[in-house]
Amino acid sequence: MPNDGEAINPFETAKRQIDIVADLLGLRGGIREILKHPKRELTVNFPVRMDHGDYRVFTGYRVQYNMARGPSKGGIRYHPQVSLDEVRALAAWMTWKCAVVNLPYGGAKGGIICDPKKLSKGEVERMTRRFAAELVPIIGPEVDIPAPDVYTDSQTMAWIMDTYSMAKGHSVPGVVTGKPLSLGGSEGRGEATGRGCAYVIREAAGPAGLKLKGATVAVQGFGNAGSVAATILSEEFGAKVVAVSDTKGGVFKADGLNPKAVGEHKHKTGSVTGFPGSKPVSNEEILESKVDILIPAALENQLTRKNADKVQAKVIAEAANGPTVPEADQVFFEKKITVLPDILANAGGVTVSYFEWAQDIQGYYWSLAEVNQRLDRVMTDSYARVHAVAEERKVHNRSAAYIVAIQRVVDAIQTRGIYP
Ligand code: NAD
Repeated sequence: MPNDGEAINPFETAKRQIDIVADLLGLRGGIREILKHPKRELTVNFPVRMDHGDYRVFTGYRVQYNMARGPSKGGIRYHPQVSLDEVRALAAWMTWKCAVVNLPYGGAKGGIICDPKKLSKGEVERMTRRFAAELVPIIGPEVDIPAPDVYTDSQTMAWIMDTYSMAKGHSVPGVVTGKPLSLGGSEGRGEATGRGCAYVIREAAGPAGLKLKGATVAVQGFGNAGSVAATILSEEFGAKVVAVSDTKGGVFKADGLNPKAVGEHKHKTGSVTGFPGSKPVSNEEILESKVDILIPAALENQLTRKNADKVQAKVIAEAANGPTVPEADQVFFEKKITVLPDILANAGGVTVSYFEWAQDIQGYYWSLAEVNQRLDRVMTDSYARVHAVAEERKVHNRSAAYIVAIQRVVDAIQTRGIYP
């Protein structure tokens, strides 16, 4: 993958971003210090009984970054490269993501250092349940609400919900989101990130000088987020999806691909490549293709100082987290390319997680149409706020999104005051 960033500590990056926005907002030293520190961190080393009969000790983390605006929210990932600083950075970004779409939440993140591909299902379940038991004192519907992330899914959330409920003596569905529907999951959660991204693109199209009907779209990473965004843009808004890709390569069709049919092809063959009637393209070509809208929906650090100049899209919608390095951002700003930053463009997922929690705690569930209508309102309002700040301050959308988010967190901290 193109990556001209060095292996830098993600929490240092997160803190640098805070400083940049703090400068723009004219924040003083004390409040900056608060913003640059996670409120609460748990490191837990815990034993798990393995299939071979012996025990193994795993290390897990939960970082509750900021809770000024409400309970903290954020996923739990299982990955060999999980580190405390990575979890801190991800928890900070969750704080800003929840704030930019104005959810009554703070931000958190968690993880276990492990390779789930090398564990049996029983081992993953026992590891999950023991970790959940260690988290019981610091999570809960009014405290901190985990969700799925890398290599965790609705089954993982079901185990956490069950373990927490056993400790409390009654069912507590609102302790996690991303649950199966049978346990209080929400309609529309599965497609929320891609759908939210499509709504933000719809709102941004006009100001970017685009007519969405007939606009051409390229998607790097035809997975959950990317395929849903492509399908909605094509089926509901009349855009023309001309190129999509996955790890194995990409496909191009000048008069438009049918995203649903490409999804079925990927489901059958394991990749979008070889889709009948399409031409092969590389992932690099996808990023540089002559389209109106580019959706990076795969990995971080894809748009770099090396390829930024070659990007021809008028709108870049970051369904993925962190696909653009700062140098590329600057190039896009100078070229007047509209960047819809990740904390806004992919916030549909956490928004419907919030809806799931709201439904769980009131024990009253909404239809898919209600979920999508409310999601539309959140994404539309959030885009409008970010766009207004970008215009007013003459900054790019990413800075504007951070300004909106951090200002909201600062307001909450200052209005509450510092205890005691
Ligand atoms: P996914 O695994 O469903 O899809 C990722 C897709 O990207 C896959 O099709 C994969 O083949 C492809 N891919 C991987 N490496 C690639 C490469 N080098 N070039 C081209 N394609 C490549 O994952 P997802 O849930 O859709 O997440 C994608 C991105 O969106 C991630 O950055 C994730 O953090 C972000 N995101 C997802 C959600 C969500 O709710 N799913 C929410 C917020 C952010």
